[in-house]
Amino acid sequence: MSKKIVVFGEVRDGELRNVSFEAIAAARKINEDGEIVGAVFGNEGLEEAAKELIYYGADRAITVQHDSLKNYTSEGYAQAALAVINDENPDGIVMGHTAAGKDLTPKIASKLESGLISDVTEIEVTGDNVVFTRPIYSGKAFEKKIVTDGLIFATIRPNNIAPLNRDDSRSGDVTAKEVDIKDIRTVIKDILRKTSEGVDLSEAKVIVAGGRGVKSKEGFEPLQELADVLGGAVGASRGACDADYCDYSLQIGQTGKVVTPDLYIACGISGAIQHLAGMSNSKIIVAINKDPEANIFNVSDYGIVGDLFEVVPKLTEEIKNL
Ligand code: FAD
Repeated sequence: MSKKIVVFGEVRDGELRNVSFEAIAAARKINEDGEIVGAVFGNEGLEEAAKELIYYGADRAITVQHDSLKNYTSEGYAQAALAVINDENPDGIVMGHTAAGKDLTPKIASKLESGLISDVTEIEVTGDNVVFTRPIYSGKAFEKKIVTDGLIFATIRPNNIAPLNRDDSRSGDVTAKEVDIKDIRTVIKDILRKTSEGVDLSEAKVIVAGGRGVKSKEGFEPLQELADVLGGAVGASRGACDADYCDYSLQIGQTGKVVTPDLYIACGISGAIQHLAGMSNSKIIVAINKDPEANIFNVSDYGIVGDLFEVVPKLTEEIKNL
């Protein structure tokens, strides 16, 4: 049966986040022959973002523009999202499993009295069933879920479902929807981004992460250089954050960010289970550690037993010379 799926894209600083395109690819997997409707919210310039959703596979797109939607607030975005859902009456909703997605989707699901399958890493269609895979127990196991009744409502983990190829010959209607956003109790005065420079950690394709073995703030410099030549981002273990070598916004793990880059280079990280919870689904893991018994080698595809202060600069040089 052909269905209609609404995909909420995410605009930040005027740009659509990559996970928005991945969400469209996920919706297309669920709904091969049906309609995909993209939706974006903000206070200006949404037309371009809406067209991008179409180039990446949406059939048409809706924009909701309002001064109150300049920055994400759950109250404002929920009003915009519910207005779109009421109009469209979709069979499914897909969004990225980002900070905004994690906040917005349970709120909408509860208003709609719907279930929600969060943090999906894989979607398979077998016969009439759409099977969603998601990690449980901090990534130590995976569960498979199907929706037996009601809305197909899912958030997808960034970097797991490849976006469709961009095709700027695709066309579709872009509709500006008026929504009277009101009674917002949260006012965002300013946003201070500690990690505003460089690549966003949660969407990075390459992460060079440092642990307590990095030994100081300055010890992160060679890691940053390696990340720069690879076009990646720097991350950290909680050990490194607790020791004040770097900011907590870089922490990866059970109580930090969950990442799935194509390449994760762990430098001076022992591989505690709480750290693995945030990175063990990375596609290729390289570990650099002086201790050959370090647990990180049990999850890595390639291991280098050695001093990170010798190995990391050599790697950077080699990559620069490629
Ligand atoms: P260590 O375990 O001290 O490891 C340092 C490593 O560096 C060692 O393996 C050592 O051999 C190596 N090393 C030292 N010098 C060098 C050198 N010159 N070259 C190469 N290697 C070197 N941790 C997280 O990371 N993320 C989380 O989200 C998280 N959440 C937690 C939640 C809870 C409830 C708890 C209890 C803990 C949590 N932790 C988390 C902490 C976790 O248990 C570990 O303490 C932490 O991951 C250890 O960090 P580390 O690997 O950097 O340090």
